[in-house]
Amino acid sequence: FSYLDKDPQVAAAVSAELSRQRDSIELIASENFTSPAVMEAMGSVLTNKYAEGYPGKRYYGGCEKVDLVEELARERAKELFGAKFANVQPHSGANANLAAYFALIQPGDTVLGMSLDNGGHLTHGSPVNFSGKLYDFHGYGLTDDETIDYEAIERMAAELKPKLIVGGASAYPRVIDFERMADIAHRHGAYFMVDMAHIAGLVATGAHPSPVPYADVTTTTTHKTLRGPRGGLILCNDEEIAKKIDKAVFPGSQGGPLMHVIAGKAVAFGEALQPEFKTYIDNVVANCAAMAEGLTAGGLRLVSGGTDNHLCLVDLTPADVTGKDAEKLLESVGITVNKNSIPNEPRSPFVTSGIRVGSAAATTRGLDENDFHRVGELIAATVFAAGDEEKLAAIAAQVRTILDAHPLYPEYDF
Ligand code: PLP
Repeated sequence: FSYLDKDPQVAAAVSAELSRQRDSIELIASENFTSPAVMEAMGSVLTNKYAEGYPGKRYYGGCEKVDLVEELARERAKELFGAKFANVQPHSGANANLAAYFALIQPGDTVLGMSLDNGGHLTHGSPVNFSGKLYDFHGYGLTDDETIDYEAIERMAAELKPKLIVGGASAYPRVIDFERMADIAHRHGAYFMVDMAHIAGLVATGAHPSPVPYADVTTTTTHKTLRGPRGGLILCNDEEIAKKIDKAVFPGSQGGPLMHVIAGKAVAFGEALQPEFKTYIDNVVANCAAMAEGLTAGGLRLVSGGTDNHLCLVDLTPADVTGKDAEKLLESVGITVNKNSIPNEPRSPFVTSGIRVGSAAATTRGLDENDFHRVGELIAATVFAAGDEEKLAAIAAQVRTILDAHPLYPEYDF
C-alpha cells in the first residue's frame, strides 16, 4: 500500500479495515477472504481497459490481451461447474439475476421464488427490488420442519402457471433438491433458474448437488464460498439461451465489463480447480457442523435442527435476545455476524429473532473443528450473558486467543 499512502485518508481507512478483519472472527455467511493473487489481479492495469462486447467481438481496439483473460475465466468456469456456456461479465450477483430474467421472461410475467422472510434473496421478488417491481413474483416457503415446501411449489406452479421458477437462497442451511424443482418447473411449462450464490463453492467440489445439469440457467456470485472477487457469473447448457444471456448482459443491462475483476475471477476459478479447494470446502462443511453442535450445546435452537452446508440459522428465542442486540453483543466480543429473520418471524427485519452464521471466511483463516465448536459455544455464552460485563470480557479474551492462533493475511504489513 505504499502507493495508497499518497492518499493518507483512504490509506488509513483501508488499513483500519484490514485491522478490523484481523481482529474479529468473521462469520458473515456471504463473506470470505480472497487470496492475495485474486486481489493482485483486481488491482492490476486491466482496470484501465474498455472492452464492450465479448472475446473476438469487441467494440474497442486493443482488446487482444484482455480477451485472453476473459477466455481463461470462461473456460475455467465451464470446467469447474461442468457447464457448456459461461458469461463472466456480470458486475454482481444482482446483475447476474437481472440479466437472467431479461433473457428468460418478459416484464409482468409470473415467477415463483423463495420469499425473503424464509431465506430468499432481494432479487427473488422483493417488492423493494427491481425483481418485485418488474415481475409478478409469488413467494414459496418452508414446511413445519423448516425445510423447503416442495409440495407447495408444485401446487403454486399448477395454480399460477409461472413462466419461471427460481431456486436458491441466502439463508437456508439445508440441501436444496434442484432436480425435483426442475422437474416441477418443466412439467408446468416454466423455465427453472437457480441462484447458487451461497453454495457455489460447495457445488464446485461436489459437497452440494449441482443445479447445472437441471437448471435452464444458473447464476451465482463469485465472492462467497467460491472465494473469488466480488462479482457475478451465469452458466447454462443451451446455445440459444446462452445467446440470449450474452445479449441480456451486454448491451442489455451493462456497459464495459470490469476486466480487472474478470482477471480476479479467472484466478479464483483456477484456485477452485485445485485439489486444495476441495479440502477447503470439506473443512467449511465440517466446521459448520461443529459450530452447530457448539451452538446447540450452548442452549440455542437451530432453524431446521441443524445444517448441511456452510451456514446455520440460529433462533435466539431461548436467550430472549433480539438479532439486532445479539449482533452488537457479539461484535463487542470480537465475533462478526448478521441479524436474520427466522421462519414465522414475529419481529421486523431490522430487529429479528435470529442470527445467520457461516464458516467460509473463518475456515479460510485456518480455524478448525475444535475452534468452531468453541466459537459456537462462545456465541451462545455471549447472548446469554447480555449485561454481564465480566462474563463478556472473559469471552472476548477467549476469542482473542483463537484469533491470535490464526493470523489473517500475515503477508500484509502496514
Ligand atoms: N443471490 C443470492 C442468493 C445472494 O445471497 C446474494 C447476496 O448476498 C446475491 C444474489 C446478490 O449478490 P450481490 O450482492 O453481488 O449483488
